[in-house]
Amino acid sequence: RFEGITMAPPDPILGVSEAFKADTDEKKLNLGVGAYRTEELQPYVLKVVKKAENLMLERGENKEYLPIEGLAAFNKATAELLFGAENPVIKQQRVATVQGLSGTGSLRLAAALIERYFPGAKVLISSPTWGNHKNIFNDARVQWSEYRYYDPKTVGLDFDGMIADIKAAPEGSFILLHGCAHNPTGIDPTPEQWEKIADVIQEKNHIPFFDVAYQGFASGSLDADAASVRLLSARGMELLVAQSYSKNLGLYAERIGAINVVCSSADAATRVKSQLKRLARPMYSNPPVHGAKIVANIVGDPALFNEWKAEMEMMAGRIKNVRQKLYDSLSAKDKSGKDWSFILKQIGMFSFTGLSKTQSENMTKKWHVHITKDGRISVARLSSAKCEYLADAILDSYHN
Ligand code: PMP
Repeated sequence: RFEGITMAPPDPILGVSEAFKADTDEKKLNLGVGAYRTEELQPYVLKVVKKAENLMLERGENKEYLPIEGLAAFNKATAELLFGAENPVIKQQRVATVQGLSGTGSLRLAAALIERYFPGAKVLISSPTWGNHKNIFNDARVQWSEYRYYDPKTVGLDFDGMIADIKAAPEGSFILLHGCAHNPTGIDPTPEQWEKIADVIQEKNHIPFFDVAYQGFASGSLDADAASVRLLSARGMELLVAQSYSKNLGLYAERIGAINVVCSSADAATRVKSQLKRLARPMYSNPPVHGAKIVANIVGDPALFNEWKAEMEMMAGRIKNVRQKLYDSLSAKDKSGKDWSFILKQIGMFSFTGLSKTQSENMTKKWHVHITKDGRISVARLSSAKCEYLADAILDSYHN
């Protein structure tokens, strides 16, 4: 009976790590997954996380089940971190926050809410977007279509296309927006462009649906990276925000994040929260506790909170240095006169190089540089020492 099941294709992002493992060449580089590495290319556990974990051990915390909605202290901390503690949506208790299984699980829970309470509604996602968005909505049986985002000619934002497509979407659609550090392009709208995006969303009665996977990691500042969410929430709109602590606290494997639904009244928020719990219960019953306690402990302690901010700035700073080094190496080596400055303008963990599928395959086959087939490079996994080699690989793939 299982004989009839065919082989599933490898995941386009996590499959890169599998191919990397199988590669026996010494020069191999894994620039696929967006997970931060040190200059020595080692995984990095934040010092502040180790401190929080030690505190938890000392206190002898137990492993009892969390409630379906997760750890109360975490839910409070995560919503305040996102909107700001003084935000009217917080003060008026208009946000339904439920702890999720990191960003992915939180997006999936929101998708389940859309499927159940907005039958036939469409989600608009950017072209391109993080590969898993399509899977999430497909599996939740939520319809989606794409809005223009990336302009290959300028390696920048196709703002007019984006606005036109959001305008053309059926009234009351969900518009999926990357809060900061757009994945895979690293291209974010400017504050003025966010205002215009908010205008068309309001005009069409759409519901903004933010995916915030990099708060604090894009600019190094938690507040600056939440500006887009706060700008739209200040207009009094209802909106959804999925959060993840994989990147900004390096808690990838702990699966800690949240879904926040901003409603127009505290009463509606209570009802929405009850429905989110109802959706979560048969899926996974209740979320894991460890990551939630780490976040709550760090955000709740001013000294630890400051240490976190300093470490986040350090990580964001290292990525910026590597970007600069890669840009310098490419500019020095490339005799074609191509302008590589887009690498410096891009924000966050990734650089979208514009390499085609065939060129990306050349990177892997000939140079043992493992990247996704859309030409995205995880700069967060690159060291300064490897920039020269990477520049050779890129130029060879680009020009040959
Ligand atoms: N959204 C975006 C845009 C992402 O880049 C990621 C991580 N790559 C996620 C969500 C979710 O990651 P996680 O489930 O590890 O929090």
